[in-house]
Amino acid sequence: MKYSHQLLTVAGILIVMLLLSNCKNSKNLKKMETANQHSIFPKGQRLPTDWFTGEAFLHPLVVKDKNHEFSAGAVTFEPGARTHWHTHPKGQALIVIEGQGFYQEKGAEARGIKKGDVVNIPENVEHWHGASATTKMVHIAITNYKEEVQVTWMNPVTDEEFDKVNH
Ligand code: MN
Repeated sequence: MKYSHQLLTVAGILIVMLLLSNCKNSKNLKKMETANQHSIFPKGQRLPTDWFTGEAFLHPLVVKDKNHEFSAGAVTFEPGARTHWHTHPKGQALIVIEGQGFYQEKGAEARGIKKGDVVNIPENVEHWHGASATTKMVHIAITNYKEEVQVTWMNPVTDEEFDKVNH
């Protein structure tokens, strides 16, 4: 009788420990989910479909002024979103701060890019950048001006071109 009572006590303690550890795990999970939902910058304003395919957003960070011959902004690409093909007369630097996507120069293989990657884009090289088909991507874009011009827009990246880099 005494023995079975001890067994019950041990079983009870084990159950309580199990419940506590589950509770801790779900708390940690919740913390991680919350962190993932919080980006460094606000999403900003939707970018025009004249130059972007899918849902892309811009949050301006630094504007051209008497000292800065560049602008900087955080660009959010939802899954499947990307720029049209384009060039920059004085180049551009991209710093990926969230998620993953692609950078591709015309006639070259696409480069997979992810949080922490930096892309240095030369002047007058036709290219596009954006999310992957299934993941969002956020980058800071630092874009130089040549007089008043910082970008020349070209054709959209077709679904065929986009599918190809995603497979
Ligand atoms: Mn660009």
